[in-house]
Amino acid sequence: MSFERFEKKIWLATPTMHGEEMQYVRQAYETNWMSTVGENINEVERIAAKKAEMPYAVGLSCCTAALHLAVKHAGEVLYGKPAISHGALEGRRVFCSDMTFDATLNPVVYEGGIPVFIDTETSSWNMDPVALEKAFEMYPDVKLVVSAELYGFPGRMDVIKQICEQHGALLIEDAAEAMGATIGGRQCGSFGDYAAVSYNGNKIITGSSGGCLLTRDIEVANKARKWSTQARENAPWYQHEEVGYNYRMSNVIAGVVRGQYPYLEEHIARKRAVYERYQAGFADLPVQMNPIVEDTEPNYWLSAMIIDADCMCRQVRDDSRALYVKETGKTCPTEILETLAKYNAEGRPIWKPMHMQPMYRMHDFVTREGSGRCRTNAYIEGGCADVGADIFERGLCLPSDIKMTAEEQDRVIAIVRSCFE
Ligand SMILES: *Cc1c(COP(=O)(O)O)cnc(C)c1O
Repeated sequence: MSFERFEKKIWLATPTMHGEEMQYVRQAYETNWMSTVGENINEVERIAAKKAEMPYAVGLSCCTAALHLAVKHAGEVLYGKPAISHGALEGRRVFCSDMTFDATLNPVVYEGGIPVFIDTETSSWNMDPVALEKAFEMYPDVKLVVSAELYGFPGRMDVIKQICEQHGALLIEDAAEAMGATIGGRQCGSFGDYAAVSYNGNKIITGSSGGCLLTRDIEVANKARKWSTQARENAPWYQHEEVGYNYRMSNVIAGVVRGQYPYLEEHIARKRAVYERYQAGFADLPVQMNPIVEDTEPNYWLSAMIIDADCMCRQVRDDSRALYVKETGKTCPTEILETLAKYNAEGRPIWKPMHMQPMYRMHDFVTREGSGRCRTNAYIEGGCADVGADIFERGLCLPSDIKMTAEEQDRVIAIVRSCFE
């Protein structure tokens, strides 16, 4: 089958602006608050904290910076202040989400920590609480967990928090993709001892960049503000007792974020419509969309799907390329992504699990069964205990841009459907 090529590219997720952003940016310009101080930052911190139902938010240059300051603070709380040239987690194991964007755990490595990856659960595509329990059995000394909500479809972060409490561990919640999503009526970003949200360009709302650290502890908020502005002590000159960072949010960027927040709910509603249109369009196909866990409300940031195992054509991937063999009635993510690209639409593979990344090849990985790693392409030979590898093998992210029209999405649906013929 052949389709008309999209004249205007259909993107995975791009910024959607509304006009108010410019007013706040202009206000920053006209009042000359063009640096890292100003009303836009104050407002973003107020709104972000209120939205996430957390007492304090600290505006930062990005979510990765927020996660870094959280990881560093947690490390100092747990293990004491390190020597100047050492990380706060030097040589310490930290349990981390496996199927996530690498920014979730990069800060653990910045601080000298050793990520131990926790497998994903089939029912939510998020960190598996059963595997986490198993990990605490295997490594009872671990005191820190970093867990992310994938694609804005939360798993059981509430249960993960309980497990952490039972084991005396702190939880850092990476809610970068999940702003506005809820679990049991509570906002994502309110479950961790520390949490972070992102205003990166492809997230549900954006400042072009930026992020916030969320906390219940005013000491953490004060410390994060100090560290993010080069850790200057209260003195007439540049006085330093600890290492600092240039991580503070710009008041110009904050203007964009401030103008976007009133549209968060609208963006969620439009993302939901995209998801539901795919769901209806694929109802009779052998696929599953992102799972929605009972008593959770996603923000629907990225629509994704996995192909039923018995309808997968054979696909192999090395570290940079993918090949597949076409079979009638079967398809695979590689075929769908190549076909979408041919018609000028952007999909993306599922985030490749961290335990499969070359740099973490030697790191521990814990599944429900205990220590384990799936063979590459194991599903071809049948049987695979590793949920993350399996979802990566069979899944893909669909174009989820909220400026995509219903007609455009119908054409995307028809293109995807054609791959199953
Ligand atoms: C985007 C993202 C980040 C990083 O956010 P930045 O603001 O770009 O630093 C972290 N974690 C996850 C899960 C993300 O999707």
